[in-house]
Formats: sequence, C-alpha cells, structure tokens
Amino acid sequence: MAADALDQAKTKVTEAVDRLADDLEAISHQIHATPELCFHEEQAAGWLTMFLEKHGARVERGVGGLPTAFRATVEGQAAGPTIAIMAEYDALPNIGHACGHNVIATAGTGAGAAIAAALGTLPFAGRIQVIGTPAEEGGAGKVRLMEAGVFKGVDAAMMIHGRCGTQVWRPTLGIIKVKCEFFGRASHASSWPWSGVNALNAMIQLFVSLDQMRQQLRPDARVHGIITMGGDQANIIPEHTASEFYLRAPTKDYCKELLRRFEACAQGAATATGCRTVVTSDPIIHDPLKANFTMAELFGKNLERIDFPVDPDDGEAGYGSTDCGNVSQALPTIHPYIRISPDGIPGHSREFAEWAKSPLARAGMVAGAKALALTALDLVARPEELQRAKDEFARTRG
Ligand SMILES: [Zn+2]
Ligand SMILES: [Zn+2]
Repeated sequence: MAADALDQAKTKVTEAVDRLADDLEAISHQIHATPELCFHEEQAAGWLTMFLEKHGARVERGVGGLPTAFRATVEGQAAGPTIAIMAEYDALPNIGHACGHNVIATAGTGAGAAIAAALGTLPFAGRIQVIGTPAEEGGAGKVRLMEAGVFKGVDAAMMIHGRCGTQVWRPTLGIIKVKCEFFGRASHASSWPWSGVNALNAMIQLFVSLDQMRQQLRPDARVHGIITMGGDQANIIPEHTASEFYLRAPTKDYCKELLRRFEACAQGAATATGCRTVVTSDPIIHDPLKANFTMAELFGKNLERIDFPVDPDDGEAGYGSTDCGNVSQALPTIHPYIRISPDGIPGHSREFAEWAKSPLARAGMVAGAKALALTALDLVARPEELQRAKDEFARTRG
C-alpha cells in the first residue's frame, strides 16, 4: 500500500518536472545571462523563490542571516523527517557560469516546485525543503548557514552538480584557503635600488619554493594561487605584495600539513629577501565529501527509473572541492554529478560555461530535478531507508 503510494507520487512528480521544464530552462538561462558573484545573487534568489512560491511551496527569504539564502518547504501530512535539497546559484568572476550553478539552481528548485505542484501536501510524514545556498565559490555559504542553524533538524541533504559525466559518487578535496603578504621597503628602482627591500622578489621566491615543494607532495594534493598585489609602478621597489592560495587534499589532516609547509616556504622567502611575511589562513576549512552510499544508491536507482545513464569515471580529471563537504560531515548527504557537457570539458572553463546553457544542460537539469525529487520522496516515504543512511553515516568516517 505504502509502496503504491510512493510509486504514484513518483510518477506524478516526474510528470510535473516535465511540465515545468520549459520554465525551469528559461530561469536557468536567465541566471546564466546574469552572473552574480558570491553573496550578491539577488536576482537569481528572486527568480527561484518566486517560482517555488508560485507552485505552492512556503518560502522564507534571507534565512540564516544571508540575504540571498532561502528555504522553501513542502509539508507532509504529519510530523516526520526533514529532507533538504540544496540549490547553488553563484557565478565565477569574469568567466560567468563556468561551474554551471544555473543548472544546480534550477534542478534543486525544479525538484521542490514539482513536488509542491504535483502533490500539494506530501502523502507521507515529514517535509521536503529546498535550501538556497549562496556563495559556494569563495564564500562557504553552506558553512555559514549551518552555523546559523539552517540545517538544524535536517535529517538528510542532497544536491546535484553539473559535470562532463554522470557519477552518483565522486570524492572531493578539503581546502584551507590562505592569504600571504610580504612587507619590504619602497625606494627608487633606478637611483636607490640598494635602499629598497623588494616584496615582489619575496613573492616570486614563494612561488618557486612551492613549486619545488610540490615534488614531495602526495599526488592528489593541490597547491595553487594568484598574486593579488604585485606592486604599484615599475620605478618603485614594491613595498607590499599579496597573494591568495588554496591548499587542497583528500583529508583535513593533510590540508593542515600543507599549511605547515606553506608557512615554512613563506618564512624562507621572507628571510632570503629581508622582508616580513604574514600568512593568514581562513578559519573556515572546507571538508572533503563524506560518502553516503545508501543515498547514492537510491539516487542511482531513480536515475535508472527515468532512464538517465550513469557513466563510468574515465579517470581523466582530478577532484574539486565544495562547501557541501562540510554538510556531508554533519549529516547524511549526497552530491552526485550529472552530465551537462561532452566528455573532457573542464569545469571553470569558458567552454563549460557555454555547455551550461546547452540542450545537454537542459537534459541534465531535468534528470537532476527528477532524481533529487524522487530520492527525497524515498527518504520520507521509507523510514527504513533513511535509517540505513543514518546508520551508514554513524558507522563511517569521511
Ligand atoms: Zn566551481
Ligand atoms: Zn560548482
């Protein structure tokens, strides 16, 4: 009986996603054409919440003290578990939606809107929420929302991310973000160079030292940075330089080891050039994703139900990172990847930004919305599955 009710609900919700697909694609393209950076996603949050409201979800805006965050709830017929579907909608500087968050946004929102439109009230105990999470690229929005209590009471969480292939489970790396500055002394670069202390030389030395350190790092670690301040004018010995780095590894412990070595490189560069250095690490550490194979398997079965193929990992790419990692360390969470481009298109590239508004992106968005909605329904309708996901979470370390 319960199985029938679940199956009927799944069919109705799948059909609702198909009915909403044109509107969802239009919003996806609007977000794509209006790239908004971390914590400034006003228009995207506006379009998504309007859509959720229109289809019957109860929307709260500005949750967790973040103006561009939101939460949309579809209630069930009695008290029960809360399942969250996360939506991201921020863009990258200069290269726009090169991470395809317009697809994440409309897949998550589409899942919630379709559930609300098809069912009104869930024919099960519990509730399903769409949580709009700003600032994935550089702002750790989900960590801020967790600290503000937005995920309190959430039993399990999920989202999808676009990629050049579909994989229900794929690891991500932890990150420690650091800023490194060097302070020297300004002087005329031609008539008094020996009176100056060159902070740009220290910065170049840091990059060289890090490149030498790299040879002794584990192959899955990543150290990469940019110079954000390299001096003011060629005829002044630079007195102040600044840079930003991400230190990434599959474990938090190895991220901390990278930080220790980074600080030594910075100190060495400062000593060699007579500068002073200040290394400031971001107090928010991005955690690697903790797997939940129970939920990943449910998601995979729902992809099968809607006939969307899963791809073998071709091993061609390394791993990225996500603030969803921190959510996954706090509660059972999945972050499957859905194909929105052909094989081999790197994320954060101009090519990927183009694919994020292609027919392939529409297909991925529709499949993502369906599989998210159906998996959320599984977890509210089948308490034993949610319990299995929680048991796995309690049993494993990520
Ligand atoms: Zn990204
Ligand atoms: Zn992303």
